[in-house]
Amino acid sequence: MSEYYDLLGIAREANEADIKKAYRKRAMELHPDKNPSPDAEAKFKEITEAYEVLKDPEKRARYDRYGKAGLGGTAGSPGYGGFHHVDLAEALNIFMRDFGGFESLFGGQRAEARRGQDIRVSVRISLQEVALGAKRTIKLKTLERCDTCGGTGARKGTRPAQCRTCGGSGEVRRAARSMFGQFVSVSPCPTCAGEGVVITEQCEACRGEGRVRADKTVQVEIPAGVTENNYLTLRGSGAVGPRNAPPGDLLVMIEVKDDDRFERDGDNLIVDLPLSFSQAALGHAVTLPTPYGEERVTIVPGTQGGTILKLKGKGLPRLGQGGKGDLLIRTHVWTPEAINEEQARLFHELAKLEGEPPKRQPGFWAKLKEALGA
Ligand SMILES: [Zn+2]
Ligand SMILES: [Zn+2]
Repeated sequence: MSEYYDLLGIAREANEADIKKAYRKRAMELHPDKNPSPDAEAKFKEITEAYEVLKDPEKRARYDRYGKAGLGGTAGSPGYGGFHHVDLAEALNIFMRDFGGFESLFGGQRAEARRGQDIRVSVRISLQEVALGAKRTIKLKTLERCDTCGGTGARKGTRPAQCRTCGGSGEVRRAARSMFGQFVSVSPCPTCAGEGVVITEQCEACRGEGRVRADKTVQVEIPAGVTENNYLTLRGSGAVGPRNAPPGDLLVMIEVKDDDRFERDGDNLIVDLPLSFSQAALGHAVTLPTPYGEERVTIVPGTQGGTILKLKGKGLPRLGQGGKGDLLIRTHVWTPEAINEEQARLFHELAKLEGEPPKRQPGFWAKLKEALGA
């Protein structure tokens, strides 16, 4: 007979306070207002049933002795049928009876329900801006608080009146019966939709909404190192809610423009560097782009095609981690597609002098690994 104890995660010796505490903690996670999964609803019913039995010393004693079979009849007639599992309505009522409405536990939920809309905008930035961070001024079409009524929605010189249906609490309570006795069920007031006040004379500027259409500009700072599909959330920068309800958020979606100079691989950037035979053989100095300006790079004599050189710390910033990735330079040896007579003559000369190429070269991935590990 330990199932109920296990459901609440408590010991057989747990006292009433332990039971209440354990149930409250679990119920807060599984409550259907907070956790939408059907699995959570089933568990919520189970733990509520366990709680309802264990918190009652008489039921608990019968359960300890006879298990669920002991719960059906009255004391003294154990094993008599009639036990049933709590359904969702009963479970919600039990929770509300002992802990109040779910809303009151989290506070401000009523206002939160009327919160203004979130606004989404996209911002396109260059790879250079990914490297350095960026600032943008964004123009929004939004809803702002009505200045005429100060957001109350009531006509100038008047004030919203307390709702008579709910007395200003925004909630109505009704008695409900279940197998566990009489409970009070709480729901939003139908007259004032949970606001607690009603407007008798509407503000003309906002028609009682407490907010009006407006253009707004917002400064957005985009941190260095973002990637496509990252987004920023500016809390409270969305549309304001009706009648001074809290504002929504501004969500800034990031798009990164392609940069044909670089290939991006996470925080690393890859640059392709074509070399002619002679540059690869004789060595070469070249200027290459990085997001932080140009860099002079020396290619040593005898550089093979497919070699990967690394400019440490010249890649992109690591968002939230500090430091930067690397810039990887991938060499290609270019073979001329059409050559003139003079070039052909020189290649023939060269062919007589140059040695045989080695049979095997290390593959690309081996080289990349070596470059990154070095
Ligand atoms: Zn107004
Ligand atoms: Zn009301």
